[in-house]
Amino acid sequence: MIPGLESETGLVHGFSTISLGTMGLTQAPDPDAVMASRRQFARVLGIDAEPLTVAGAVHGASVARIDEHQDVVRGVDGLVTDRRGVALFATFADCYPIVLWDAEHRCVALVHAGWRGTVARVAPAALKAMHHEYGSDPAHVRAGIGPGICGACYEVGEEVANQFDAAFVRPGVDGKFLLDLAAANRSQLEAEGVEVHVIGLCTKETDYLPSHRRAPDGTRFGAIVALR
Ligand SMILES: [Zn+2]
Repeated sequence: MIPGLESETGLVHGFSTISLGTMGLTQAPDPDAVMASRRQFARVLGIDAEPLTVAGAVHGASVARIDEHQDVVRGVDGLVTDRRGVALFATFADCYPIVLWDAEHRCVALVHAGWRGTVARVAPAALKAMHHEYGSDPAHVRAGIGPGICGACYEVGEEVANQFDAAFVRPGVDGKFLLDLAAANRSQLEAEGVEVHVIGLCTKETDYLPSHRRAPDGTRFGAIVALR
């Protein structure tokens, strides 16, 4: 759980570790085992009654409002809901899960933010969807940035680095750059007036979290966001 959000009694959120197995279906040799792992993860968070609604992430900034369970919502990197009984889910391996929580209007968002989604401003897009659909005031929204690849580990080329404000980019070795995606997303949300909390776990440096850069084998961790 993200420090700063763990005492929010209306919010359920969590990130799986590799002890629960991979949460990613795409390269999975045994999809049934993945589905069992997802159910186990949901049970750990105490939401075993509800099936998960999966964001079929495409590294964009589209956001879908979810009023009832769907197995997969294709083509979106953000899901919002105000319904108890809807459990939002997405998978990650270096990209960042971002949780948005509005205790006033009792609604939540789950965002999948890699570099493309961050350039496309997917986190502010989810905030805008919460405002549009549920009347959320950004000043009453609290955000949590979950585990992802950190600014000391995320090496990118100049063509990617150039798309970010210099504040989030440092020179790396061999003409490469180091990009701090967590800081870029934090900045986007804080500029909208949102209070942002960061878990501060680097996937590449944390052996109990899958990292595409450390081991590009398709292993993914999951994030669940729901209302209690
Ligand atoms: Zn790192």
